[in-house]
Amino acid sequence: MAHDSTRVYQHGTLALLVPGLFTGTQSVHDLLQHGDFGIGTAHGLAGELIVLDGQAYLVAGTGDVRPVKTTETVPFATVHFQDAALTSQTISGITKMALEQQLLNQAPLKNLFFAVKITGQFKKMHTRAVEAQVEPYPNLTAATRVQPEFTADMVEGTLVGYYAPALYQGAAVAGYHVHFLNTAHDFGGHVLDYEVADAQLTVQPFETFEQHFPNQNAAFLETDFDLHAVNADIEEAEH
Ligand SMILES: [Zn+2]
Repeated sequence: MAHDSTRVYQHGTLALLVPGLFTGTQSVHDLLQHGDFGIGTAHGLAGELIVLDGQAYLVAGTGDVRPVKTTETVPFATVHFQDAALTSQTISGITKMALEQQLLNQAPLKNLFFAVKITGQFKKMHTRAVEAQVEPYPNLTAATRVQPEFTADMVEGTLVGYYAPALYQGAAVAGYHVHFLNTAHDFGGHVLDYEVADAQLTVQPFETFEQHFPNQNAAFLETDFDLHAVNADIEEAEH
């Protein structure tokens, strides 16, 4: 059966990370049933997850990159199946800010979830990666107060991530949330900034946002979420 590329699937919410619910609640094996590209984090907030062609990788706070076993678990991740019929466009010499604005201007996408994938040469790439936390977990703001940052010039690789409408702040990160992995698989992370040298861009809008919850996790079920804190803390930790 062909994979459904009209939906984006998410396990957990960004908001559940805010009070420190970092326990992995879905196996990577189960996650990958819902997509072959995506982003997220790992059990214990152990780094920045990126899924490329059905293989998950983790960029740790040390900057080290490793493949993720399918038995490992995630508290939060978003994946989709790439639409094989999508055509890519060549982009060159464009900054993150200019490209992100251009995508929203050229088509009415602001009220949809869509995936962005950029493969090729980047003139500059600036990332960060969260450091693994140990129990009892701190909240997200404390966990992300110190985040190692990494930069590379003229790096080849793939950027993958999502745009979520403002309405979905808390479920996801409102606006863009993208991760990067280089072709050599030794540099990547949560993307803070970049400049494209020469690359192929695909934009994949979705009809459906599928939200899956950690319904077997007692801590999640019992938490009282502070909605005001969620918005402020996501802005501080994710942007
Ligand atoms: Zn991220």
